[in-house]
Amino acid sequence: MNVEQVYKDSSALLQGHFKLSSGNHSEYYLQSAKVLEDPKTAKMLAVALAKQIKDSGIKVDAVCSPALGGIIAGFALATALDVRFIFAERVDGVMSIRRGFEVKDGENYVMCEDIITTGGSALEAAKQVEASGGNIVAFAALANRGFCSRVGNNADPKANCKLPANTPLFALDDFTFEMYAPEDCPLCKEGKSEAYKPGSRGN
Ligand code: ZN
Repeated sequence: MNVEQVYKDSSALLQGHFKLSSGNHSEYYLQSAKVLEDPKTAKMLAVALAKQIKDSGIKVDAVCSPALGGIIAGFALATALDVRFIFAERVDGVMSIRRGFEVKDGENYVMCEDIITTGGSALEAAKQVEASGGNIVAFAALANRGFCSRVGNNADPKANCKLPANTPLFALDDFTFEMYAPEDCPLCKEGKSEAYKPGSRGN
């Protein structure tokens, strides 16, 4: 499956001059919500991701996602794996598991995001699951932004990858785009456009 083409076909791979949540600038932006807007596409991607996890032989009891971005991908993955789904959310900036979700001692969790960039939110949510007695047996995402090492590509993780090296990351593809600090951004230097955050202009 060509995941990049799936993103393009869903108008989810945007080209322009973007300000990422990290503050860096990029010519590309991934709008995973657009890919997951079509349940058939969400299911197709989740089934492919679930197959990787099943083929690895890892036993999974449940999937957890950090809200909000990971929820649809995580729910679709849990459906494909036929296991429970819970999510963690930020309350006053701190990742928490609420809403009556119960993590039982010794349960095996996959922590699922839509896209893994540095993995910061996934790691915070994973720590909450572990603090409640669960095990994080894998991380998963539709795509890996190329900072972390995923099963099957064996590239070394970059220094800014926050995911633990001893837990596998499953993803369908690598999306490696350049990111620039604002002062080094070639698009800014061109002077033809200003970086903007997708979603801030009604899109
Ligand atoms: Zn710029």
